[in-house]
Amino acid sequence: MKIFLADTEAMLRLGMIIGEFLTVGSVILLQGDLGAGKTTLVQGIGKGLGITEPIVSPTFTLINEYTEGRLPLYHLDLYRLEPQEVLSLNLESYWEGVEVTPGIVAIEWAERMPYKPDSYVSISLTHGNQGDVYDGLRQAEITPFNCTIDNIVAAIYSKILQVRSQSSG
Ligand code: ADP
Ligand code: MG
Repeated sequence: MKIFLADTEAMLRLGMIIGEFLTVGSVILLQGDLGAGKTTLVQGIGKGLGITEPIVSPTFTLINEYTEGRLPLYHLDLYRLEPQEVLSLNLESYWEGVEVTPGIVAIEWAERMPYKPDSYVSISLTHGNQGDVYDGLRQAEITPFNCTIDNIVAAIYSKILQVRSQSSG
């Protein structure tokens, strides 16, 4: 599904819905340029999981772990890595839950991954094309690979309808 996010708040709310409905072992692969909103979306996911600790960009730490929520959140950022270095991180131990408690894995700059899990949710963040109606607006395209996101899509639609009916009185 494709969805437009008017501002930071909308990006956080989308993340919160995703975080509320994700099941254990889910992998979210985030793509999009610097500043596209990847970390913001993961901050929302963290809130949705019930994490109150601030979620900060793992650009320099590579991985941040949050264990306070409904499920552990492993937040990675591969921006500074070459594919060869990504290999040495043994990423599969996170999504297979080997030696780490199974949880949710969210990876920024997933395009740097030399291999991907068998199933994952891809979220690609882009800007609307210059000149069209959506000029400057962020867009998220959410695509499941070998898994279902029906519950997340249903929750997104029901929230949109709630907001609409509230604002129309
Ligand atoms: P990334 O992790 O992709 O580099 P960030 O999540 O750090 O990007 O976001 C960069 C900036 O964009 C932040 O200041 C954030 O508040 C803002 N931002 C996030 N989502 C949106 C949006 N939908 N519309 C406008 N600004 C946004
Ligand atoms: Mg980031």
